[in-house]
Amino acid sequence: MADCIFCRLINDPGSIAVYRDDDVALLDDINPQAPVHFLVLPRQHVETIAELDDHQLLGRIFQVAHRIARERGIAEGGYRLVFNQGPNAGQTVYHVHLHVLGGRQLTWPPG
Ligand code: AMP
Ligand code: ZN
Repeated sequence: MADCIFCRLINDPGSIAVYRDDDVALLDDINPQAPVHFLVLPRQHVETIAELDDHQLLGRIFQVAHRIARERGIAEGGYRLVFNQGPNAGQTVYHVHLHVLGGRQLTWPPG
């Protein structure tokens, strides 16, 4: 998808994607909402989490999220995993991504 910012970032060898395997990529959020805030996304362009029905790929996304959370030192304190689905949830980039937020006490309910 040429006009998708996340497709461009994760498929450009010179890009800032900090992790990449055959199925999954990781980006540091450009506007972090917590001391640690990164995004885990499928390399395949799928617009929303509701449309992502490949269970193996879903599992990989969570697996990478937990692994990088451990590597970045937020596993013990706890972290939040968020998929924003559609406009009311505030989804702004229509390439599925799992937000991983940690490193501070997060409030609930979310805004
Ligand atoms: P969402 O609102 O759930 O669609 O989240 C989109 C996220 O992507 C936001 O947290 C943005 O800060 C983040 N974002 C937008 N553009 C970029 C970019 N070029 N690199 C990294 N993160 C981005
Ligand atoms: Zn895309």
